Amino acid sequence: MEKLKFYSTNRQSPMVTFSEALITGQAPDKGLYMPEKIPVLPENVIQSFAEKTYPEIAWTVCREYLKGEIPDDELFSLVTDAYNYPVPLEPVTGRKYILRLDQGPTASFKDFAARMMGRLMQYYLKHEGREMLILTATSGDTGSAIANSFYGLDKIRVVILYPKDEVTPRQRKQMTTLGKNITVLGLDAKFDDCQGLVKQAFADPDLDHLHLSSANSINIGRLIPQSVYYFYAHSRLRNSWPDPVIFSVPSGNFGDMMGGMLAKKMGLPVEKLVIAVNENDEFPRFVETGKYEKIVPSLNCISSAMNVGHPSNLARLVALYGGRMDEAGNLSESPDFGKFRNDIFAISINDVKTRETIIQSWKKHRLLLEPHGAVGWAGLWQYLKHLPEDEITSKFCISLETAHPAKFPAQIQELLGFDPDLPESLKGIEDKEEQSTEISKEYGEFKRFLREMS
Ligand SMILES: *Cc1c(COP(=O)(O)O)cnc(C)c1O
Repeated sequence: MEKLKFYSTNRQSPMVTFSEALITGQAPDKGLYMPEKIPVLPENVIQSFAEKTYPEIAWTVCREYLKGEIPDDELFSLVTDAYNYPVPLEPVTGRKYILRLDQGPTASFKDFAARMMGRLMQYYLKHEGREMLILTATSGDTGSAIANSFYGLDKIRVVILYPKDEVTPRQRKQMTTLGKNITVLGLDAKFDDCQGLVKQAFADPDLDHLHLSSANSINIGRLIPQSVYYFYAHSRLRNSWPDPVIFSVPSGNFGDMMGGMLAKKMGLPVEKLVIAVNENDEFPRFVETGKYEKIVPSLNCISSAMNVGHPSNLARLVALYGGRMDEAGNLSESPDFGKFRNDIFAISINDVKTRETIIQSWKKHRLLLEPHGAVGWAGLWQYLKHLPEDEITSKFCISLETAHPAKFPAQIQELLGFDPDLPESLKGIEDKEEQSTEISKEYGEFKRFLREMS
C-alpha cells in the first residue's frame, strides 16, 4: 500500500513517511512536517460518527494518515488504550457548547496528543529495537502530559525543561513526582528560553548519539490526534447536517488549532475557527496587517500555557494557505490572506477580559472555566458580536476548555471564592515527593547535563 508522504515546511529536506516524521520530530532543515495531501473523509463517513465511540472515530481519522504504516487491528488497540476517558460536550446556552478536554490523566487537552504520540512511538521503537531520548520544553501542561504518557515505558527517556515561575505548583508536581525514566529541569527563565535550548540541542551534532526526539507540539504524531476531538464534538451535536459549526480555540503554539484546521480540510463542516490568544497578539496582528512580528520576550498572562510570542506551529498554517514561513518567523511567501480571513477569526483577549469572563460565565450559566478556556469563550462571543442577531442564535458553536479548573485554584478562588473539586487524576499528588534539578539558561550547562546522563 502506498504510504502518505510528509514534506518539511522549509522545503529543503526530502519527503519522509509518517514513522520517520514521528521519530525525528523536526525536519533536518528545521521545518515542520506536513502531510503532502490531506485525506478527505466522505460525507457519509463523517455522518456515521454520530453512532461511534471516541476510539472508533480516532481510529477512522488517524488511519487515513497511517495507511501501510500500522495494521488496522494494532491501530485500534492503540487508540482504545489511549482514549479511555470521557470527552463531555456540555450545553451552555442555546446552541453554544463547551467541549471539556480536561478528563485525561493530567486534566489537560494535551493528554489527547501526548497519549497517542507515546503509543505510536512505542510501536515503532519496539519494531525497530531502538531507543530514544525525548526532549521537551513546557509552559506547564505539555510537560505533565508527556511525562505521564511516557512514564515507565521501555527504551524511551524523557527530559523536560520548564520555566520555574510560569507553571503552577500543581502543574509542576504532575511532572516532578514521577521519577523513573522522567527527568525534570527547572529554569530561572521564560518558556521561550526553554524552547530555545531544546531547539539548540536538536541542531547540535555532538548530541546525535542520544537519538533526540521532540515531543512538543511540533511533532506530527501529536498534530493528527488533535483533529479527532473536532470530529467527535461535531458528531455529538446531532444537528441537521450540513449545518456548519464554529469552533473557538484558546491558542498558544497552535497545535490545537491546527488539529481543527486539519479536520476542516478533511471535510468536517467548520464554518469558522476562532483563534483566541491572550495578550500575546502577534497572530491577530498578522491576520490584520499581513506583517508578522513575533513578541520577544512573550508577555505573562494568567492563561500561562498560552504565553507564546511566536507559535511554533504557525509555519504549518502558513504552508496550508500557500505561504512559507521559516522557524524564526521570517515570511518568504505570504499565505492567501483572502482565504485565511475567510476561514479564521483571530482575536486577542486580555487578562481583564479573561477574569471578567470567568466571573460572568459562572454567574450567568454556572459554567466553570479556567483562564485558558475563558479566553476561548470570550473570543467566541467577540466573533458572534459581528453577526446579525438571528445568526447569533442559530449558529452551532463549540468552545474548547483545555484544562480542568482545579489546575488553577488560585484564580478560581480569587474570582469566584471557592476551590474547584479535584478530578480523580489530580488527587493524592500533593503528598508525593518531588524530584527536579535546577539549571541556568546557558546552553553549555544544559548540554553537559545531557551528555552526563548517557
Ligand atoms: C498548551 C495549552 C494551550 C495552547 O494550546 P496550543 O496547542 O499550544 O495552541 C491552551 N490551554 C492549555 C490549558 C494548554 O495547556
